[in-house]
Amino acid sequence: MLNIENLHASIENKKVLRGINLKINIGESHVIMGPNGSGKSTLASIIAGKKEYKIDKGNIDFLNQNLKNLSPEERAYLGIFISFQYPIEIPGVSIINFIKTAVNSIREARNIKKMSSKDFLEKIKEKSSLLNIEKSFFYRSLNDGFSGGEKKRNEIFQMMMLDPLLSVLDELDSGLDIDALRIVAKGINFFRKKNNSVLIITHYKRLLDYILSDYIIHILYKGKIIQSGDKKLAEKLEEKGYDWIIKNKIQYKK
Ligand code: ADP
Ligand code: MG
Ligand code: MG
Repeated sequence: MLNIENLHASIENKKVLRGINLKINIGESHVIMGPNGSGKSTLASIIAGKKEYKIDKGNIDFLNQNLKNLSPEERAYLGIFISFQYPIEIPGVSIINFIKTAVNSIREARNIKKMSSKDFLEKIKEKSSLLNIEKSFFYRSLNDGFSGGEKKRNEIFQMMMLDPLLSVLDELDSGLDIDALRIVAKGINFFRKKNNSVLIITHYKRLLDYILSDYIIHILYKGKIIQSGDKKLAEKLEEKGYDWIIKNKIQYKK
């Protein structure tokens, strides 16, 4: 589904990603962990197609299409959803209108007819009860004055309404209390299906304790994936810390 080859990328002439190789197949869940500043959010921004971030070298394909020449909207129409670490605030636009517009513009781009108001409301009802979201929430302005937990829950809700093929979640778990974390994890587990893929970017292992454990984890350090593995690698990381992996890797290389 997503194929990243030897990706080098920079922001404001600063090299951040230095040769990323990452292949995500349909139905897989991948996790990226790494110390602050290692380039996790930069990778999410590159997948999203944010203009400020520049690809210096390498390739990034989604469903065998080169993403380089596609706008962020075109990427969304292809089925890519990105939840950013700091979600945007749009005062004056209600959540319900924002999501309805997003759902229908994706459908339009795919030549699917607009969702009827009845179907839309039914879908909202189903997803919101799963995420413990109250009805009044949908009439508030997008992220305006939301608590950290509300913002993150809204991101998961958007993901479920849009039903993307690839969902990239950047630090969706940061700053959440345990109840909010559980709800977010429940949303992710519910979303995961055979025909979609997830890339979870996180700083802490705690979210991983609540999601289905068949994920592939990658450690990003100074713009490179220095190690990949399964759940056991996440456990080792929790126990021994990044320093251990980094040191271990450097010794191993000698
Ligand atoms: P992470 O998400 O792993 O914490 P980031 O991708 O946010 O790391 O940042 C990687 C590096 O790129 C950092 O050194 C950061 O300072 C730099 N960087 C990220 N965004 C910008 C920006 N908009 N302008 C300048 N430097 C940036
Ligand atoms: Mg960071
Ligand atoms: Mg980040």
